[in-house]
Amino acid sequence: MFPLESRLSSLIWFSLSAFLLSLLLINSPEGRLPLILVDHPDNITDVLILGGSHAGLSGALTLARHQHDIIVFDDSKPRNWWNTPMHVLPTWEHRSPSDLRRTSRRELQSTGLVTFVEEKIVKVEKEHDSLFHATGSSGKKWSGKKLLVAIGNEFDYPDIPGYKDNFPDKILHCLFTRGFEFRGSASAGVIAADLASSPPHAAILVEDASKFAENVTLYTNGDHELAKAISTILVQKGESHISIDPRKIIRLAKNTTSNGITLSFSDGNDRTESFLVHQPATKMAEGIVGELGLETNARGDIVTKMPFYQTNVPGVFAAGDSANPFKNIPSAIFQGANAGAGIARELPRRFTRHSTNRLQSGGLTTWFTNWIRA
Ligand SMILES: Cc1cc2nc3c(=O)[nH]c(=O)nc-3n(C[C@H](O)[C@H](O)[C@H](O)COP(=O)(O)OP(=O)(O)OC[C@H]3O[C@@H](n4cnc5c(N)ncnc54)[C@H](O)[C@@H]3O)c2cc1C
Repeated sequence: MFPLESRLSSLIWFSLSAFLLSLLLINSPEGRLPLILVDHPDNITDVLILGGSHAGLSGALTLARHQHDIIVFDDSKPRNWWNTPMHVLPTWEHRSPSDLRRTSRRELQSTGLVTFVEEKIVKVEKEHDSLFHATGSSGKKWSGKKLLVAIGNEFDYPDIPGYKDNFPDKILHCLFTRGFEFRGSASAGVIAADLASSPPHAAILVEDASKFAENVTLYTNGDHELAKAISTILVQKGESHISIDPRKIIRLAKNTTSNGITLSFSDGNDRTESFLVHQPATKMAEGIVGELGLETNARGDIVTKMPFYQTNVPGVFAAGDSANPFKNIPSAIFQGANAGAGIARELPRRFTRHSTNRLQSGGLTTWFTNWIRA
């Protein structure tokens, strides 16, 4: 037998090591539990979620609440990759979207049901309505019973030199998510093109911009017919004081003197505005959508059916920017949650071995406490 002192010191060392290990597991970037607590009898995950931003994370949370296991794939290219401070989501006003995603991931990791794979999915195959395969850029393949497509979409910028350099700093695409920050500006320009090329929509953007700038000019970038059509609507709305400029824009450049943006026209003249409003078109990455045969609409968004955002392909759901004309975070979260519920109802019942609500806890300490109690 070891002397008492030696046993005590071993016990203290063991306890200290266990405590440090549990801290590491709680705070590790992966945050995974040390043991697999959920059965994977057939190596087929319940749900594969393509896209780990707001829509995908929300779908994962709803699914975890029904004890489903999930793999979330993400290649870190969210639409707002500039990470401009967020607005219109209660509790997260003027805070970072990447912090919101990080917080959400931490919650999901603590369930022990969600695995994150930082990889681009390059191929998706459907075997039948309850079996899908996703292949990552590394060549690795995963299988799942259902698929949630939450891959967002990309901007399709207009072909105006200098446009991309000034988006989103001086070119605002949504005056609810960003506009208030520019209140009291001397002037604003609205470019009626792309998603804002329909006259009624352009007229609405002019009225929105008037809330944040003393003077608003509408630019139609060489389209004289559009200028006339919008002018008619603005007159009907009692907004006849709005100037309309149909000249072709050949360049946009930051104006460091006025902290505004200068438009150069084909006639050789320039004009500077405090900010511009323009909604660039969006486009969907073709691979996954084409491979699955997902139906898309004229804007390129995936067509889904309310309320669970089921696509035309059985077993496949879509949420967020990739499937929604209202491209903002509250909508992405809402759609993700509803899609998650729809998917859960299509899956067989599933039990984990836990009696506690693991969404409120995580790490080795919690697991150990639960194990002692069991
Ligand atoms: C400048 C700017 C500011 C904005 N400000 C606000 C705001 O203040 N408030 C607000 O509500 N909204 C705002 N938005 C809109 C908001 O960012 C989007 O509506 C939201 O990000 C949509 O979430 P999502 O999950 O649908 O898509 P995304 O956030 O675009 O995420 C899609 C994810 O899927 C991943 N992905 C795509 N393809 C694959 C693949 N093949 N394999 C693996 N992963 C893949 C991408 O890497 C990405 O992380 C802003 C947008 C911009 C551009």
